[in-house]
Amino acid sequence: MQSLPPLFHGDARLLLEREVAKTFDNDVQTHNSFFVADLSKIYRQHLRWMQHLPFRPFYALKVNPDPYVIRLLAALGAGFDCASVSEIEATLEALGNHPDSGDSILFANPCKFSGDVRYAAEHNVRMSTFDNSDELEKMARFHPRSRLLLRLLTDDSGSPFPLGKKYGAPLNVVPALLERARTLQLEVIGVSFHVGSSCYKPDVFRDAIWRSKEAFAVARDMGYDFTVLDLGGGFDDSPVQGSDASIFETVAAVVKQAINDYFPISTRPRGFEVIAEPGRFHAFPSFTYATSIIARRLPWESGYDRTSGDTPAPLMYYISDGIYGGLANVVADHRPVHPYVVSMGGKFDLAFDSSELVPSSLWGPTCDSVDLVSPNTLLPSGLRIGDWLAFPNMGAYTACLATKFNGCEVGPVVHATGEGEDGEEVYRALMRFTKERNSDSESKTTVSFTKLRDFTTHDV
Ligand SMILES: *Cc1c(COP(=O)(O)O)cnc(C)c1O
Repeated sequence: MQSLPPLFHGDARLLLEREVAKTFDNDVQTHNSFFVADLSKIYRQHLRWMQHLPFRPFYALKVNPDPYVIRLLAALGAGFDCASVSEIEATLEALGNHPDSGDSILFANPCKFSGDVRYAAEHNVRMSTFDNSDELEKMARFHPRSRLLLRLLTDDSGSPFPLGKKYGAPLNVVPALLERARTLQLEVIGVSFHVGSSCYKPDVFRDAIWRSKEAFAVARDMGYDFTVLDLGGGFDDSPVQGSDASIFETVAAVVKQAINDYFPISTRPRGFEVIAEPGRFHAFPSFTYATSIIARRLPWESGYDRTSGDTPAPLMYYISDGIYGGLANVVADHRPVHPYVVSMGGKFDLAFDSSELVPSSLWGPTCDSVDLVSPNTLLPSGLRIGDWLAFPNMGAYTACLATKFNGCEVGPVVHATGEGEDGEEVYRALMRFTKERNSDSESKTTVSFTKLRDFTTHDV
């Protein structure tokens, strides 16, 4: 029997404040950072996804393999993109280790360990990707019943994480690869691509869908029946420059239009199916990271020239985790992060006038000067050791990238269903899912729900 961490039924902000309040009586500070997962945000993202891109998502586990995130997405009908045995194991476990659980997994790594391939074969994980002939030999030897997607090279210039140098077959090698697959009697069922994470150029998706159409045509001429078009990941949810609107809806519209243009309904093969492998899109808004101030250097104590407007700002706060831990995304994403003040002097619900805010720099607890979380962010001037800051939108590529450098450790996750009707929906979906899976599965899971309602910050 596996038991999951407790799930709090209610508002994630209350849970965050409750955890913070627990530290107020402590005389001594410890490594006390923690994430708060608001599962209702996963639910909202999933609804938005299905509204704008009504294609089954295979959530990419590497982005955030949280056990509740996996279970909630499974309950909502998503599949999973796994790249290794341990990701497959975690997914199978969450799905209750049913004989058919492997159907919900796409082993979307074009260059796999052969041992992992054998494990996939033994666990009925049939769908996988490839982009070279050695991989085909590997599949033929260790997983002859696999169903393969040919990963295509795409233009990755629209992403800060170009993947084209590492993966993807150019169109001109498609015939030779398909020939090889045929000789090895392997089943190839379609194509996949990945335009790079956080793709901000919608036309790159359009171009990739055009390439997919070309590959479908080559395959048809060679006698293959391709049916699967896998759009990969790379879907971003940050605002378009100079606007409040997210880029997601724009990208989704371009993707749908391109599918209609290059795969018009009348020409679609029987059983044609579009799938995708989003990771960041679902996970990004769902976690908040709470950190406390452990040390401070005032401008007169820091070596920085106070008169120059240069960063880092000379008012320096050292916080309980940094870029080697749960704030690893700061480096990976090349995007500034700005926290809000959770508590100051033991008080919550603070509002600050812009005149009270001063440029401040935030540093991680390791001894490396690269461990700079935010070179210049506006915070109230009266912050002290023991006050708490929280970083929103910390669900994607954060804890999963953490190291133990300098003996610092990433904080644990506490989970809330979220507030309102969405939170209720999360609660019901997870209850239903756990019951269903447990009724006919070997690996049972227990979830303990705790109502959060009774807690308010007035109890502190
Ligand atoms: C990382 C990855 C994803 C997820 O990408 P996002 O940009 O986070 O959506 C999907 N597919 C593959 C093969 C990946 O490597």
